[in-house]
Amino acid sequence: MTDWIYDALTKTIPEDKILINEPLKHYTHTRTGGIADYLVLPATYEEAQHVAALAHNENIPLTMLGNGSNLIVRDGGIRGIVLHFLHLDAIEQDGNLLMAQSGAPIIDVSQRALSEHLTGLEFACGIPGSVGGALVMNAGAYGGEVSNVLKHAKLLTLEGVIITLTNEELELSYRSSVISKKHYIVLEAVFELEVGDVTAIRAKMDELTHLRELKQPLEYPSCGSVFKRPPNHFAGKLIQDSGLQQTRIGDAEVSEKHAGFIVNRGNATATDYVSLIQHIQKTVSTKFNVDLHTEVKIIGED
Ligand code: FAD
Repeated sequence: MTDWIYDALTKTIPEDKILINEPLKHYTHTRTGGIADYLVLPATYEEAQHVAALAHNENIPLTMLGNGSNLIVRDGGIRGIVLHFLHLDAIEQDGNLLMAQSGAPIIDVSQRALSEHLTGLEFACGIPGSVGGALVMNAGAYGGEVSNVLKHAKLLTLEGVIITLTNEELELSYRSSVISKKHYIVLEAVFELEVGDVTAIRAKMDELTHLRELKQPLEYPSCGSVFKRPPNHFAGKLIQDSGLQQTRIGDAEVSEKHAGFIVNRGNATATDYVSLIQHIQKTVSTKFNVDLHTEVKIIGED
């Protein structure tokens, strides 16, 4: 099949980096989601720039996909182009700075910090996102978050221009940043760390990994914590106290191990996930008068 979008893409992107009607369930941690019209895998910043400029100039919807660990893609899929940074995953060290491209798993950056005896990224050792997704979400765990260690980031504007923003300019706050508000595309991040004691760094990472294994249902596909922490409450506790654990719609189930997680017990669809999320929101609102807002991003068409 060829069409004008495919023809325009192949002017700057090798054909093997353009996937047509690609099922996104292979790329999301819930293992759900419809197809992307075009999934494009740039291998250089210039290729990413070309795609952004094409989408902007021709009015083609453009969506960014990281590791899909905080995403529910609806079953109707995503129209237009989805950019995925699988091939932009370099990590380089310069003294106490680590530069990582947007597609590098943040877990690998944390491991690299360990091997370079640098401290500050231990908190990220179990977060299954990419560098790009971690910046967008200001990912954090166990008292640490991206904002504590990020120096600056290289971004692409929707018009295809590369800019650099400092930590302050990125306006990183709880699971939020300026990146999604302004529709920027993350190309790379520079983390500023401190020289530390390798034994202490490893011990911290081991401790956090153990805590995760103990508390989270890592044996099933999921998108991590579905809801943001509401002021003065914990989402998981409210869901647990609403008696919702093991409530199931299709194969999507509120985890027995951690009520803040919805696990895929087999062949859950995105529709199952979204219906269960709405059911949880309604139940918790009725019982406790607290509104739960999703941390997970729900995108695409029904
Ligand atoms: P995706 O899910 O692919 O995308 C998230 C958002 O970022 C989307 O809006 C997407 O469009 C955008 N995006 C992705 N890449 C780019 C880019 N290059 N440029 C612009 N926008 C982009 N999160 C935590 O904060 N702490 C935790 O402890 C934690 N634990 C988790 C445990 C499990 C088992 C799971 C499944 C998830 C967990 N998460 C946690 C959630 C998730 O891993 C983080 O939010 C992560 O930062 C998302 O990164 P991603 O690459 O998977 O992003």
